[in-house]
Amino acid sequence: MPAGATRFHLRKYIAAALLSTAILGGLVVFAVDLAIDRAVSADARARAEDWAKYFVATIPEFDELVSTGHLTDRQRAVVSTALVGNVFRFKLYDARGNAVLQSDLETFANQEQHDHIDDEAMEVIASKQPLVSLKAGARERNMPSLYAEAYVPVLDRAGNLRAVAETYVDETRTGAFYHQSLGALAVALGVGFAFSFGIPTVAFLIRTRQAREVRHQAEFLASHDPMTGLLNRTRFSEIVQARIANRVPGRQMALVILDIDNFKLINDDYGHAAGDEFLKHVARGIGRFRLDEDIVARAGGDEFVIALTRASVTEMISDVKAIMATISKPIRQKGDTMAAHVSAGIYVMTDEGATVEEALSRAEVALHESKIDGKNRVSLFSRELDERMRKRRELEDLVQHATANKGFELHYQPLFAIDHENCVGFEALLRLKDRQGAYVPPTTFVPIAESMGLIAAIGKWVIVEATRTAATWPSETFVSVNLSVCQFQDQTLVSTVEDALKESGLAPHRLELEVTESMLMEDNEGIAEQLRSLKALGVSVAMDDFGTGYSSLAYLWQFGFDKLKIDRSFVSALEKDEHRARQILNTIIMLAHQLGMKVTAEGIETARQAEILRGLACDQFQGYLFGRPAPASGVALVFTSSGISSVSPASVG
Ligand code: C2E
Ligand code: MG
Ligand code: MG
Repeated sequence: MPAGATRFHLRKYIAAALLSTAILGGLVVFAVDLAIDRAVSADARARAEDWAKYFVATIPEFDELVSTGHLTDRQRAVVSTALVGNVFRFKLYDARGNAVLQSDLETFANQEQHDHIDDEAMEVIASKQPLVSLKAGARERNMPSLYAEAYVPVLDRAGNLRAVAETYVDETRTGAFYHQSLGALAVALGVGFAFSFGIPTVAFLIRTRQAREVRHQAEFLASHDPMTGLLNRTRFSEIVQARIANRVPGRQMALVILDIDNFKLINDDYGHAAGDEFLKHVARGIGRFRLDEDIVARAGGDEFVIALTRASVTEMISDVKAIMATISKPIRQKGDTMAAHVSAGIYVMTDEGATVEEALSRAEVALHESKIDGKNRVSLFSRELDERMRKRRELEDLVQHATANKGFELHYQPLFAIDHENCVGFEALLRLKDRQGAYVPPTTFVPIAESMGLIAAIGKWVIVEATRTAATWPSETFVSVNLSVCQFQDQTLVSTVEDALKESGLAPHRLELEVTESMLMEDNEGIAEQLRSLKALGVSVAMDDFGTGYSSLAYLWQFGFDKLKIDRSFVSALEKDEHRARQILNTIIMLAHQLGMKVTAEGIETARQAEILRGLACDQFQGYLFGRPAPASGVALVFTSSGISSVSPASVG
């Protein structure tokens, strides 16, 4: 709730409280007026009664006066003295209500006036009770501004009515007195009300409002992501589930998952506050292409989900790409320029009635495809993709399980020297069996292990296992181990190799490490440094699969390899275009020799290939013609057949 809105509500409440206080104030004033009227009436009545008593007492011929209406001179004098104090006029009525005397008229001489019956006097005659009515005076008639007409019955000892005296009592001063003192009371009551009612009312209303805001906020937090203001995953699922049940004809709905590529780097490089800004940037990017019917949520971490409704799949893909392009634009945050791509996975809802969770997991499959396909991509879910992903997940489980349970095997493929045609060493090749017992090719599971971040641990096992095995072989043989680029990342490779050599007792020159050109592309300096340290240990380093990458002379020169392994595609090319293949092989071998490297040809399958390569002075041969990769136990056979006899029992077992 914005501060402005809170202020607006506060003003409304204060106005309401003031209004109700004013109404109450009005009621108080009314009540006070009523009380003043009563007090003044009571005063008038008392004065009128006193006056009547005085009048009757000072005129002994009262009954006569009432019956005749004539005043004697003495009576006239008494009457004029009776007009003292507040009583400024009086009238007398006989017991039937006829006016018989008025202070400013001597008598009511004519019949007309005698016949005049006063209603109030009649009422008093009937009730024998005094009657007072208050009047505001009119200036022009010389009347006081407030006076009372008080009718009092004059009774004999037996209680019989003798006459009715009507006195006009000036109550101006009494009224003023009461107004002054009770007016102050009214103000005091008003202020009291304001404090005892108005202020608590305002406080109550504010508290109620705040409680409602807190409730709204709690409801908002329960269904939204506070940082981006988007829905959370739970609420998203509820809304989308309802939408699935009420599909709009002619419109297609898809669930899209967007995931920031390498979001961790943004957090690591610029801090978490910047990471938060980037998440908001993603939310804004989605917002720019959002239609009213779309539902958007932050599903957690750096993942966003959209239920996208469009006329066609083409339109969906084009909008998702537009969102991705918008997000990919760099943003500035406190002087830094941040940029990251996003990957997307789309599942177009079909009529088969998948639940939101099923649909989301299909979009997740598509997202996964985008990620392993190089990121910054959008993929659509399909049955084939699902099958591929299922197989991949199976393999991931297999790799995970084998890593935890030492479930890998090492097979060894012999390498032969050109000159004496003896086995000079073996390449250790990683093997993994699936649940049916069939071997999964390393070209399939090694990249998976790399993406799972497990290859460093597996590679370490390979180094330890291979050195331990090779240490049992004749001292003139070596073992060759393939490295993955990931093994260079945590800077522990050199110590791993050093420890393995120490542990196994294998002489460092008997260990060969194979790297490929593609690895060198990634991080030249870091890898070069570690390769130098490895060489310093006395280990030799070979460039594997030469010719499949950039075939860069620069790398060969820069890293000072001990050996170059020519990829088997060149060897097999001898079958198709012998002349050209021979020329290329000749050039590579000459070049390697010039740079002081030995050359191994991989994948020799025919005697003809071996013969040509021997003619080109290739140093070592590897291929099915000479021996297939086999478990350590098979190594002994190779040694025997190539005339090497000094194999320790451990390697045969
Ligand atoms: P690579 O290092 O080039 O290994 C040679 C591959 O060629 C092996 O395949 C081997 O079985 C195969 N090969 C050898 N002679 C012949 C032949 O005459 N004809 C044919 N068609 N193939 C032949 P493998 O064992 O399937 O290994 C494939 C790749 O997997 C290796 O290529 C290597 O890059 C990788 N790899 C194997 N073990 C490891 C390991 O422990 N760590 C790492 N990082 N990668 C490994
Ligand atoms: Mg190799
Ligand atoms: Mg190779």
